[in-house]
Amino acid sequence: MPDDHDRMVTTRFAPSPNGWLHAGHAFSALYAENFARRRGGRFLLRIEDIDFTRAREEYIEGIFEDLRWLGLRWTGPVPRQSARMAAYRAALSRLKEMGLLYPCQCSRKEIRQALEGRTDWPSDPDGAPLYPGTCRTAARDEAAAAWRLDMKKALARLSAPLTWRETGSGPDGETGVIAARPGDWGDVILARRDIGVSYHIAVVVDDAHQGITHVTRGQDLYHATSIHRLLQALLSLPEPVYAHHRLITDEAGRKLSKSLRDTSLRALRKAGVTAEELKRMLGFS
Ligand code: GLU
Repeated sequence: MPDDHDRMVTTRFAPSPNGWLHAGHAFSALYAENFARRRGGRFLLRIEDIDFTRAREEYIEGIFEDLRWLGLRWTGPVPRQSARMAAYRAALSRLKEMGLLYPCQCSRKEIRQALEGRTDWPSDPDGAPLYPGTCRTAARDEAAAAWRLDMKKALARLSAPLTWRETGSGPDGETGVIAARPGDWGDVILARRDIGVSYHIAVVVDDAHQGITHVTRGQDLYHATSIHRLLQALLSLPEPVYAHHRLITDEAGRKLSKSLRDTSLRALRKAGVTAEELKRMLGFS
């Protein structure tokens, strides 16, 4: 068995087909491909289409078209998360068997009401109020419920402080060995009521499944890494290195198009912008 240092660097681009790709997606994909190529590694692709309320087939076709236009090539078949539900359910079952999940039927409105007048109540890193724990102890009907992680119980199972290696940077310039702070998220939802799974569970299961050694992605997901590291520890999954990159706003597309309102890659292409021009603008030429 090769040890971790011998594993070939493997990165991935993992778009959600909920809309057309923009300049920010192009930057993220180019960053991941560049990162792998410069280290003699592999660049993989994955379609994150678990949210069937938003994913559309034409957006998936659009992803392939846009990435080819950018000149990107990836290794191997492209897994679709919608075809891997059984793997996510198996991971959720393990967490349930460990007694770490509980069903929750609170609506957003009920959570708001439970917290009414609590001006001191903490929020998670995305700005949403922490779940007040209404369903944590009550015996609840499992039907049509979301499943939440009992954060206190989960943290109690850790035998060592949880960290990750950040070779990019967080929104405040964080880099190096980072102390994970999953507790800041409270009892996160790991299985949504509508789709039965969640981004967090799918992403850690799939990064392990695809052998991703280096997770490159935008800084908007920097704080979520704390949840991912916790799930990796609980599920005994390998720990990847993380490289979060700056976010490219629509600004880049707008600069190239000037007159366009729609700055998706396909709109830029139609307007005559070349892949070379876009790459140069994004710093990849
Ligand atoms: N599917 C996520 C997105 O499009 C990216 C997930 C990740 O890179 O971890 O924002």
